[in-house]
Amino acid sequence: MYITLLSTFIMVTTKIAAYTLPVLPYPSDGLEPVISKETIKNHHGKHLAAYVNNLNKLIPGSEYEGLLVEEIVQQAPDGPIYNNAGQVMNHRLYFEQFVPASQYKAPGGRLTNAINYHFGGMETFKRQMTDAAMNVFGSGWVWLVADTEGRLLIVTESGGGNPWRRGLKPILGIDCWEHSWYLDYAFDKRAHYEGLWNIINWEVIENRLPM
Ligand code: MN
Repeated sequence: MYITLLSTFIMVTTKIAAYTLPVLPYPSDGLEPVISKETIKNHHGKHLAAYVNNLNKLIPGSEYEGLLVEEIVQQAPDGPIYNNAGQVMNHRLYFEQFVPASQYKAPGGRLTNAINYHFGGMETFKRQMTDAAMNVFGSGWVWLVADTEGRLLIVTESGGGNPWRRGLKPILGIDCWEHSWYLDYAFDKRAHYEGLWNIINWEVIENRLPM
């Protein structure tokens, strides 16, 4: 009886909260001064929470019910379901990839070798990512991705798009929506993009590389 009740409860709970707000791997002020506590609280606690809530409203009863966010991103056509699933996937990857500057560690050998091979050096890679972010017009994302042959590329997505839809594995993402930098940097978004390099958790990034 208890087991039945418990499993019913778990099923109902799972159904109600199919998609959940990821827990940050650092305190909300842990990325200061690059990203303020205020920005994290809005970006994670309000913007990402809204995308998660939207998805939980849109998916039940649709043909995507029971699918992972990554599967919805692959399958949904342009529209609210794709946009919200894309933004949930984007922000999970985004918030997971940072570390407080005090705990920053240089990239490991496998990642450094891959970056050197595909971009000719870590500084060239960072400059190309930063420039690509500066060139996003309006809301969008810049991603370091791996294609199906393991080549590393920099691609841009508009709106809430994720390159996973095109068969490209997202490795490192820069959020180019104003909500990610405007509060802290006003018109100087380049300072925000350049500051991000001081809080990248390269271990997380290396683990996302294809084997
Ligand atoms: Mn965002």
